[in-house]
Order: sequence, then C-alpha cells, then structure tokens
Amino acid sequence: MVDEVDSPGGDLWSTGTTDGIHEPVNVASALFFESAVEIFTRVHREIRPRTPVPAIEVAYKRFVDPNSRIRLEAGKISVTITDLLEGAPAPVTEALAHILLNKLYRKPIARHHQHRYRLYLNRRDMQRRIELTRQERGRKAHSGPSGSTHDLVVVFEELNARHFGGMMARPELGWSHIRSRTRLGHFDPSHNMIMISRIFDDPRAPRLALEYVMFHEMLHLRYPVDHSGTRRCVHTPEFKAHEKQFPDFKEAKSLLRKLVTLTS
Ligand SMILES: [Zn+2]
Repeated sequence: MVDEVDSPGGDLWSTGTTDGIHEPVNVASALFFESAVEIFTRVHREIRPRTPVPAIEVAYKRFVDPNSRIRLEAGKISVTITDLLEGAPAPVTEALAHILLNKLYRKPIARHHQHRYRLYLNRRDMQRRIELTRQERGRKAHSGPSGSTHDLVVVFEELNARHFGGMMARPELGWSHIRSRTRLGHFDPSHNMIMISRIFDDPRAPRLALEYVMFHEMLHLRYPVDHSGTRRCVHTPEFKAHEKQFPDFKEAKSLLRKLVTLTS
C-alpha cells in the first residue's frame, strides 16, 4: 500500500495573524526529551491502539514552503518535515504528528492540535523566517537571463529604450526551468523578478512573441496590482490601454496562440 498525504502547510499558516501570542510550553513535561521519532511513535499508539506501530522514519528537509509530508509504503512510515521546524518545541512536533498521522489514516484532526501548530507558525519570528526562506530558496526557480537563443537582458533593455524611455529599473530576469505553455511569463513583485517560459528560448519561436510577453510583464512592473477592490485587479484599464500600444499587438497575440496550441 502506498499512501501519501500532503502537508498541513499552506492554508494553515497563512490564515489570520496571532502576533504576540506565544503558546505556553510545559518545559517540565517529559515530552521535552523525546525525539521526533519517539513522538510520532507515541501518537501512533494513541491513534491506533490495537495496531502494532510500523517502523517510522523522520527527516527534516529544506523546502521552499513550510511543508511536511507523510507516506506509508511497504509497512513503513516516512515523515518529511520542513527544516524550519527542526528546533520546534516538542508540543508543536506532537501537534504535527497528530495532524499528519490522522490525515494518513483519514481520521478527523482535533482542533486543538491544528490550533497549536498554526499558532507556532503564525508567531512573528516564524513568519519572518518563512518569508526569508521563501525569498532565498524561491530564487532558484529560474536559470538566469542568458539562454541558448536569447538574452533576456538584451530583450528587456531594447523594450525599455523603445517604450519606456530607458527609465525602467531592470528587475532580476530569468528563464524558467520548464518549457511551460500555460505560464508564458510571470512578474513576481516579492522577488522583483520577471520569469519567462523557456519555450521562447528557441530559434523556431518568433522573437516578436517573446518581446510581447516581456512587454506584458514590464507593464506589471509599471502598473502595480490594485488592491483597492475586493477582488484584485491585475490588468487595470490603464494596463490594458498601454498594452494595446505595443506595435503588432494583434500579430503578437495570434503568434502566441499558435505557440501555445502547438502539440509537441
Ligand atoms: Zn498579466
């Protein structure tokens, strides 16, 4: 039996803020001296008292996000926990053990375990570490601006001179690792980075299509996201009006459509 369950990361830590709240940790508790494997073993016994506890392996790994994973294969449980939690107090590891093991066995998770885990990740110091980690590790998502066919710095600066009077500060530029047809370009404001899909780094891909995608991402730099409404408006009316000024706008769009629907 292979069973894999994704982390309780994401939605758990991002909901709400509890700055300044520190959970009480019972230092006198015997829990304090348990290893992660011992904690998972004890919690397993609690959840499935009549089942012999399988071999359990716990490893801390460097993830971009505060994720953890559990997997049951060939009678062995493997747990991978984000290294952000390596120094976490035992009660937090215990709460995570409850969350992951109950998910693995598709049992309900008691609210107080979820709450304790969430409180810890929502602490101001943890939020800061999570954000820094994401910035540092997220950077590895691209492989620099010079590709085999095009240099994104050259493309950017040509468009900058032609359309923005050379006044736009150049963000970090990079080719994506994968040849994505669904995400052609992307501006990430938290890293101040434009990433372009590797499908354009190809002599067969028309340069006009690449220029248009870069121009679009540059407009995201020029027109920051409007947060005033309830729904974020990424392509504001000014954005769209400016985009139409791109010469050969229609031709570029139809080139993109062909490129995206190509089957290869
Ligand atoms: Zn866009």
